[in-house]
Amino acid sequence: MAVGVYVRVSTEEQRERQSIVTQREFGVRYCDLHELPIHQTFADDGVSGTVPLESRPGGIRLLEEARQHKFDQLLVYKLDRLGRDTRLILNAVAELEKHGVRVRSMTEEFDTATATGRLMLTMLSGFAAHERELIRERSVEGTKRLAEAGAWLGGIVPYGYRKEGEHAQSRLVVTDKPIPGFEVSEVEVVRTIYRMCGTEKKSCQKIADHLNRTGIPCGSAENTRGAESGKRTRRKASIWRPSHIRNMIVSHTYMGQHQYGKRTKNRNCKIIVRAVPAIVSEELWQSAQQVLHSNRIMASRNTRRTYLLRGLIKCGLCKLTYSGIAIKAQKDHYYRCNGRQQARGLYGLSGKKCPAKSLNGDYVERLVWADIESFLRNPGEILERLRERVSMQDGERQRRQKELDDLADRLQQKAGERDRVLGLFRRGRIDDATLDQQLDQINTEAFRLHAEIEASTQALAAGDRTAQLQSAEELLASLRKRLDGPIPAELKHRIVEILVEKIEANTVERWGVQQSEIVINYRFSQPNEPAALVLPRSHSLANRNRSPEQLNTLGDHLLRRRLIRKLLQRQVAEQLGVDKTSVYNWETNRTKPGLEYMPAILRFLGYNPLPPADGWPDRLIQGRTLLGISQKESAQRIGVDASTLARWERGEREPTGAFAARVLRFLAAAEVTPSLAAIRTA
Ligand SMILES: [Zn+2]
Repeated sequence: MAVGVYVRVSTEEQRERQSIVTQREFGVRYCDLHELPIHQTFADDGVSGTVPLESRPGGIRLLEEARQHKFDQLLVYKLDRLGRDTRLILNAVAELEKHGVRVRSMTEEFDTATATGRLMLTMLSGFAAHERELIRERSVEGTKRLAEAGAWLGGIVPYGYRKEGEHAQSRLVVTDKPIPGFEVSEVEVVRTIYRMCGTEKKSCQKIADHLNRTGIPCGSAENTRGAESGKRTRRKASIWRPSHIRNMIVSHTYMGQHQYGKRTKNRNCKIIVRAVPAIVSEELWQSAQQVLHSNRIMASRNTRRTYLLRGLIKCGLCKLTYSGIAIKAQKDHYYRCNGRQQARGLYGLSGKKCPAKSLNGDYVERLVWADIESFLRNPGEILERLRERVSMQDGERQRRQKELDDLADRLQQKAGERDRVLGLFRRGRIDDATLDQQLDQINTEAFRLHAEIEASTQALAAGDRTAQLQSAEELLASLRKRLDGPIPAELKHRIVEILVEKIEANTVERWGVQQSEIVINYRFSQPNEPAALVLPRSHSLANRNRSPEQLNTLGDHLLRRRLIRKLLQRQVAEQLGVDKTSVYNWETNRTKPGLEYMPAILRFLGYNPLPPADGWPDRLIQGRTLLGISQKESAQRIGVDASTLARWERGEREPTGAFAARVLRFLAAAEVTPSLAAIRTA
């Protein structure tokens, strides 16, 4: 019967100029030699060995033909063509055998039909995987060694340098030839940048302006020297930008230390620092860093607005950070969740835009600063609260100490067990195997106990709370001193950065109204102290738009209704026929609405906010309140004199007989005032 031939190369192998043609030709010659008719050659060109056979284009065709019994032997150049590791190879072989196809390697001696062949298969595929591991390790090691030896391993050659030599011999050298069309070389440009920054204390913007005026092409612009290897060939930016200058200044390369592996995403990869020719002295480099640093501190004074809480507010809904945004028309600024801006797909299961409410910048900033000022001006109170928290944590300490003692006891017991097992062995009560097994088990448990003891000890050592309290007190005192005199925005920001660990913003719904709640975590530890003393404080935001928790007054009802209907105070005022100030005063419970506004208020509320009335006095008062009329007018409507009504309302007397009937008619009228009727049908 005919045979199938399978060939594959991965993309990396393609890069190493191994071609699929070689394998194909080998297959043809092999089959000629062994007089095997070829049914078909299945090829996967540029497919990784990590892809299972059944997912490769060639593999799919191969398995389909095998299923139809078009061939009963599959020849591969080497086993590793089937898969990159043992598991993949064995899976592929098993799948093919299901269809009665035997797999044979043309360069490795084995036959899957025999037990020995299977063992060989397992071993060979194991070797193949091992070999690849070795190659990978060797190449990583090799790269590291080369880098340590000072070789330039590719990448963008920094401005001021060029590459000389190839591969292991390649080195960075300083380019001191003049830039074509100019009298200066790249090296001189680099030195100018450092001198302007480090010595003349110029800002990156000033340096960029200067270079742009000279017309010297920017470092990342295309080089007129032609395609010199390692230089950018694509024009990226034609002018010098401050960020570019800054990146150059912070680069260690110019003081002679190139850091290799800085940009790798592999965390295990250590940064290799190797010497390259320095362009500036270490002193100049250092002073340039200093200038950059102090310029940065000064810089935010120049910006139009300082966002005091920048980077500190985190969204409780989608976990992204809030950014400060200015709204020019309103001369206002806000903090808005970054998840709201673009659909960053972090909210909810289907990844939607975040619905978090933005925070009024002024409002939260004042809130945070008021807290901070109170901490700093009377630290006593906050320290007392911290002390309380710490003593609570002392309970935790005791629990942990007990746990640690228990662990130590159990570890002691393990030593006893070990002695006992050894004793049994010496007396011939247990054999070698049992001894090993028992000792293994004891050692494993002892090891685990050791680890737990370690962790507990560390946890106990971490919190020397008394010292921390002391340090918190000192911190507050030192910051307190800075409050005297004017506080520049940057200092304010520094203090906030020290004392605020983070602010979590949450959007909650109350009475159908969205409102913000924030939890500010204040931190009372020196910046480098581990296990910070933290105190959370929560605030509900935006009093103006905060729905009352309890509806005690008519003003509470008005406010809630307004928020539910999403109206402004001005709009409510129009509906009620009053001015805005009245609405404001009622909502804030500064004044009570006059009776005459009751019908309009009822219309606005859409319900009777008064508690159910029992007995004559309450029913009478409620009746005329709902009608919005005075006692005197009520008396007239009922047809009694005012003093009698007053007595009824005080509960001194009760209406009887014909009077009772008239009162009931009056109350019924109150219930069916046109305004209320209108509400019911609405
Ligand atoms: Zn969010």
